[in-house]
Amino acid sequence: MSDIPHKAPDAPAPEGARPVPTVPYPQILLGQPALVTGANSGIGEAVALGLAQAGADVVVNYVSHPESAEEVAHKIVGFGRKAIVIKADVSKEDEVIAMFKQAITAFGTLHISVSNAGLQRDSSLIDMTLEQWNTVIGVNLTGQFLTQREAAREFLRRGIDEKISVAAGKMICMSSVHQVIPWAGHVNYASSKGGIKLLMESMAQELAPHRIRVNAIGPGAIRTPINTSAWNTPEAYESLMTLVPYKRIGEPSDIAQAAVWLASDNSDYVTGTTMFVDGGMTLYPGFATGG
Ligand code: NAD
Repeated sequence: MSDIPHKAPDAPAPEGARPVPTVPYPQILLGQPALVTGANSGIGEAVALGLAQAGADVVVNYVSHPESAEEVAHKIVGFGRKAIVIKADVSKEDEVIAMFKQAITAFGTLHISVSNAGLQRDSSLIDMTLEQWNTVIGVNLTGQFLTQREAAREFLRRGIDEKISVAAGKMICMSSVHQVIPWAGHVNYASSKGGIKLLMESMAQELAPHRIRVNAIGPGAIRTPINTSAWNTPEAYESLMTLVPYKRIGEPSDIAQAAVWLASDNSDYVTGTTMFVDGGMTLYPGFATGG
C-alpha cells in the first residue's frame, strides 16, 4: 500500500459532509479479550478502540508501521484496558498461529476475533497480474480464514464461560458492499469479499451448535487510507455521494459501533448475517428516481 498515506489525514471531513453522531460505548464487553487484525489504521483501528471503550482488552495486530500500532495500544491503555501489539502477516499460516499463541498466553483466552486486515491491488481484468490476484485473495480471504480458524480453535477449547458471555466466542469478518455489488477494475477485491460472504455463512452454520456466533460487517464508503482518492477532493466527494443515499461518507467509528454490538451479548440471536453499514449504498441508488 505504498501508493497511499498510511494514516487518514487529520483533515476536516470533506466539504458537504454531514455531521457524525458521537455515541458513547456501553460497557458490554468487560472481561472479553479481543483480537483485531490490521488494527493500526482506518476501520481496524476504530474497531480496536471501540471494543476497548466497551470494556475489552485488545490485541492490536499489524504488519507494517509498528509506531501506529503502538499509538493505538497507548490509546487503549488510556481507556483503562490492556493492549498488546503483535506483528503478523495474516496471509501466512505460521505467523497467524504464532500470533494467537502469544495473544492467548498474554490474555488467558480470547472471546472476540475481528478479521479486518485487507488491501486492494486494482487493475483492469486484462492487465491484472497473477501476483495482484494472489496478494488480494491471500490477505483478504485466506487471511480471514486463517484468523477465524485459530479463533474457533480457542473458542472451542475454552467453551462457554457464562460469567463472561452466553456465547463461547464471537467472530466478525470485515467484508464490504462488494460482497454483493460487482466492481469493474477490482475483480480480485470483489472476489475476495464475495468469498468472505460464504466463508462467514458456512463458519456460522458449522459453529452455531457450539454457541459461537459468526457475522460480517459490510462497510460502504468509509473515510480511510484505502480509498483516499474517492473522497479527498470536492469533485471526488460529490461523485461518491451519487452512490450514497444518506449523503455522507462513513467514518470508521460508524463501523466500530456495529462491531461492538455484534461482539456483545446484545446481539446473541444474530449469526450468519452481514450487517451493511453503508448509508444505503446497497439500495440500488440509481433506481431512486424510478430507474
Ligand atoms: P486501511 O488501509 O486503513 O487498513 C487496512 C489494514 O490492514 C492496515 O492496518 C494494513 O496494514 C492491514 N493489512 C494489510 N495487509 C495485511 C497483512 N498481510 N497482514 C496484516 N495486516 C494487513 O483500510 P480500511 O479501509 O481500514 O480497511 C479495513 C477493512 O475494511 C478491509 O478489509 C477493507 O477491505 C474493508 N473495507 C473498507 C472500506 C472503506 O471504504 N474504507 C469499505 C469496505 C470494506
